Amino acid sequence: MSLDLLDKFQGTLISVAIGDTLGCPFQGKLRKDIYSYFKDFGEFIEGYKDVFRTYTDDTQLTIHTAKALIQGNGFHTDNFIREYVKWLDDPPIGPGWGCISSIRKLKYGIPWKEAASNSGGNGTIMRIAPIGLFYCTNLKGLKTTAIKSSIITHSHPAASAGAVVIARAISFLLNKDPITGFSIDEFFEVITSSISRSQEKIWEEFIVLLKKLKSNLDMPIESGLIKFSQAGVKSPYFIEEYLGQAFVHPYAISTVLCSLFIFLKRLTSFKECIFELATAGGDSDTVGAIGGSLAGAYFGMKNIPSDLVKLVKNHKKILKLSENLYNAFTKRF
Ligand SMILES: [Mg+2]
Repeated sequence: MSLDLLDKFQGTLISVAIGDTLGCPFQGKLRKDIYSYFKDFGEFIEGYKDVFRTYTDDTQLTIHTAKALIQGNGFHTDNFIREYVKWLDDPPIGPGWGCISSIRKLKYGIPWKEAASNSGGNGTIMRIAPIGLFYCTNLKGLKTTAIKSSIITHSHPAASAGAVVIARAISFLLNKDPITGFSIDEFFEVITSSISRSQEKIWEEFIVLLKKLKSNLDMPIESGLIKFSQAGVKSPYFIEEYLGQAFVHPYAISTVLCSLFIFLKRLTSFKECIFELATAGGDSDTVGAIGGSLAGAYFGMKNIPSDLVKLVKNHKKILKLSENLYNAFTKRF
């Protein structure tokens, strides 16, 4: 059976927005506190739709990334900077420090090499999905573009490593059918290879953590999140009071590990997967967005319940943008 790539492009971008929208009210909350609000998350959403009225910076920046790629029919630094500067007028919803501080400098014409913050936050990964889609058949281009798109705002190597891993995971999942599934061994081989043979010490440390994640996939979600939600976290992201709790820190490595973990634990249903992601605890909207990109790339638009799509603000525009990105992709490759 041949896979419908347009369906997968749309599924990926709309799922970033669904995960972000569902996770938004739970940003900065402990997982155990989130689960005290409801018995059934689906019923909770139905009863309190107004709570889920917006997505946040994750979807906003993903939209700007897609627009920049379409404008340039691929990556061009100037287009990316222009789109990210436009985000300041959206205005940003719940932005991270790494993004907002560097993009404000870009606005005033400071060259990106000076403007980029030395942040290892998850800000470059939350916006990476369009790059995983557009370069899905050009893996060399995917890696270099994931890095180039990261370093204009985040100079820390953990941020670019996370961006490469998630972009590569998306391109892998686009080619998989949720009816037949995929090999977990192959998945980890592909994502660890994407950042192997690097000069960066933290990229090697990240590979060790990815292998550790793979060997702990039989853990319950809560325990896995406690184990990985502070993995690789460095100051200023470390919050001591959340030590030993399921609270995903907004750091590149911790967020990528937790998003991958939840996604891989819930491969049988899009709805169950996105519900678990958005209620992760801590940076819940970003885990929803990043994990959502993986779930959307795997399940595709046709497996996403329409009530979840309709919950997303501007969902028609996001679907149209996905189509435009797909058209740009078919024109280029
Ligand atoms: Mg956010």
